[in-house]
Amino acid sequence: RNYQTASFLISAPTLAKCPLDQGVEVAFAGRSNAGKSSAINALTQQRALARTSKTPGRTQLINFFTLQNDDQLRLVDLPGYGYAKVPEAMKKEWQAHLADYLHRRRSLAGLILLMDVRHPLSDFDIQLLEMADDRELPVHILLTKADKLKQGPAKASLQQVKQRLAEWEDLVSVQLFSSLKRQGLDQAYSVMDRWLAR
Ligand code: GDP
Repeated sequence: RNYQTASFLISAPTLAKCPLDQGVEVAFAGRSNAGKSSAINALTQQRALARTSKTPGRTQLINFFTLQNDDQLRLVDLPGYGYAKVPEAMKKEWQAHLADYLHRRRSLAGLILLMDVRHPLSDFDIQLLEMADDRELPVHILLTKADKLKQGPAKASLQQVKQRLAEWEDLVSVQLFSSLKRQGLDQAYSVMDRWLAR
């Protein structure tokens, strides 16, 4: 796939407002600040496709991008979760929309889950993995900002995450990733290519 062709399609506040559930899409999720926008921009080689959102509190949207100008082939930027300053009621609402999307979206072929390599597997990361497992949705984890650790500790974190997710090894894969150093792009592309070939 040619990920450089990614272009903005539409933003949706709820599942009901999403594009028709046809074709195939790959979604990106993660805690706020995990490096999701940077990863989407690195993977699509665009500087500002996914905007790093520094204005939490406003309604969070599900952003859809097409690939190769084909609306049946999509990348999806899901709202970041866990931003501390957002009121509890609003967090609950986002989580409900996220759960709704993950459970019911048939065109969703796989989920890229982003976690800071230094703070992987938050409670909500685990909840997301459980939601994905409920419907046997494959998940590929990018341990982001790998450049922030030396090679040894980065590899140790990768091994630790792999071990903790051993029970899900059929559905879940994991790798180190750095948008800054452009590390791990090819490994991520091969997973996305496989999912989008469905
Ligand atoms: P998002 O909230 O998940 O979309 O996260 P962002 O992509 O906005 O990144 C959050 C912060 O982490 C920003 O200050 C980025 O510059 C930084 N960041 C993201 N990716 C990397 C990376 O690969 N390496 C380093 N060192 N910093 C990164």
